[in-house]
Amino acid sequence: MTDAKQIRGKVVVITGGARGIGLATATALQALGAQIAIGDIDETTVKESGTTRGFELYGKLDVTDQDSFDGFLDEVERTLGPIDVLINNAGIMPTGKLVDEPDPLTRRILDINVYGVILGSKLALRRMLPRGSGHIINIASLAGETHIPGLATYNASKHAVLGFTDTLREEYRGTGVRFSSVLPTLTNTELGSGVTAPKLLRAAEPEEIADAVAKLIVAPKSKVRVTAVAGFISQFVGLLPEAVGDGIGRALGSGRAFLDDVDADKRKAYEERARGA
Ligand code: NAD
Repeated sequence: MTDAKQIRGKVVVITGGARGIGLATATALQALGAQIAIGDIDETTVKESGTTRGFELYGKLDVTDQDSFDGFLDEVERTLGPIDVLINNAGIMPTGKLVDEPDPLTRRILDINVYGVILGSKLALRRMLPRGSGHIINIASLAGETHIPGLATYNASKHAVLGFTDTLREEYRGTGVRFSSVLPTLTNTELGSGVTAPKLLRAAEPEEIADAVAKLIVAPKSKVRVTAVAGFISQFVGLLPEAVGDGIGRALGSGRAFLDDVDADKRKAYEERARGA
């Protein structure tokens, strides 16, 4: 049970908050008394979610566009006050072999998953540093510590988010601004539709990621892996000699989970949305 005292009244901004992990996190933090602002490129869905859940602020936000991002943060500060927590959550995960990935899609993944996180962190830092307080939480992935066939560019993007967040933690040490990365395993949202979790690794529910984020706000630390079992396996495998680690990955089925084993029909609608079709 998270101690609500530390969260009550905090102004929390969540990118990509219209659905999935972002929406679950917004809902959990609202229940603990935070003031919530969600922004999303999908204007219709963010408005539906914002109205249904009664969040303080919701609207269109494109994390790849500086004017859009800065304008959204301005509106939050005008309406709700200084931002205490920014959760850089917006992200996409198209699947398939790299050779089949159109170049514009490669750029789109990096633009949203990496540039969007860098831009958001920079814009929030400029607001938080003069006040000497704030918390930037970047939603990475266990894919940021592993390598999964079918997700090469996504893997690269999440490795980048982890390296970036760790660097900021040192660069702004002692300023009062905190930095954390969240590393979810495969989670039951639209992003994972048509994908079956590899053996031993059950898919998480978005509420489990939300709960981990709430705990991070109460007691900041550099990284949290969800689920604990998936996090342990991924860290353990990372310590093994490469050939052994890769062999275990293949034995668990992670080599096929995002390629041959994908249910293309179930995944079609997500792939179209992620690709901006
Ligand atoms: P989702 O597709 O359910 O939600 C992501 C949201 O981001 C969508 O509402 C989408 O419209 C929004 N978005 C996309 N591009 C945007 C942009 N340019 N600006 C603003 N919003 C934008 O996905 P999710 O599963 O909730 O994923 C959230 C985060 O968690 C992502 O960063 C993802 O990589 C990460 N993650 C997900 C899983 C998983 O299995 N679901 C696992 C590990 C990490």
